[in-house]
Amino acid sequence: MKGEPWNICPHGVDCFMTVCEECDKERKDVYLVGFNVPGYLPTMEPVECETWEDARACLVDYLRAHANDLADGDDLTANEADTMVALDYAANDIETLQKFPEPSCVVTCGGVEYWVHLEKEG
Ligand SMILES: [Zn+2]
Repeated sequence: MKGEPWNICPHGVDCFMTVCEECDKERKDVYLVGFNVPGYLPTMEPVECETWEDARACLVDYLRAHANDLADGDDLTANEADTMVALDYAANDIETLQKFPEPSCVVTCGGVEYWVHLEKEG
């Protein structure tokens, strides 16, 4: 057997550079939830969720929180008022999604992208 022992996975494959098929099957799916202005990195760490239900709730929370932030402000511009309504509609829409719309659930409101991506853990 070639390679260093610590690179050999339980299936006898050298997993240093690649992940063997069996190992890949064992990696869990993780839903990443976050938001960012397109072209810019997110200012927050994406939230990791194990299920679509959790990820959906998290995304809806972000949308509603941002809508509430706008609602709390004085003297909303017409744009901000539109964004507030769009955030609210998007939250209601996403709440009705029983299944994750693979490979990504993305909604854009007020120039900000809100998303859930499905990725493999690790
Ligand atoms: Zn393996």
